[in-house]
Amino acid sequence: MTDTLFQKIIDREIPAEVLYEDEFSLAFKDINPVAPHHVLIIPKKNIPKISDAELEDRALLGHLMYVAGEVARELGIEDAFRLVVNNGADAQQTVFHLHIHLIAGRPFTWPPG
Ligand code: 5GP
Repeated sequence: MTDTLFQKIIDREIPAEVLYEDEFSLAFKDINPVAPHHVLIIPKKNIPKISDAELEDRALLGHLMYVAGEVARELGIEDAFRLVVNNGADAQQTVFHLHIHLIAGRPFTWPPG
C-alpha cells in the first residue's frame, strides 16, 4: 500500500511542527490553518477514515480524544476549542489517514459549515 502523506509525517520523511507524540499517536500543526490554533491528531496506525475503524480500535480512538484534550491544555485553549473529523470525500476529507482537527482561537458558530 502506498504511504499516505501523514504516514510520511509519522516516518519523518516530510517535516511537520510536532506538538505531541507517543507510542500510538502524533499531533502536529496543520499546514493550512483555518484558525489561530489548528492541530491534527492522528493515530500511528493507518485507519483511512473513522468509518473504517473496527472494534479492536476503540481504545485507540479514545486515546486520540485524550490527546486532543492534552494538547489543548498544553496550548492553553482548554476552555474553547472544536474537534472535527471529516469522513469521506463528500465531507471534505482529503487525506485518507484518520485525523482529528483541533481548532481554536476564533469565534465559532453553530451549526458548522
Ligand atoms: P481533511 O480535509 O482530510 O479533513 O484534512 C486534511 C488536512 O491536512 C488539511 O487541513 C490540510 O491543510 C492538512 N495538510 C495537508 N497536507 C499537509 C502537510 O503536508 N502537512 C501538514 N502539517 N498538514 C497538511
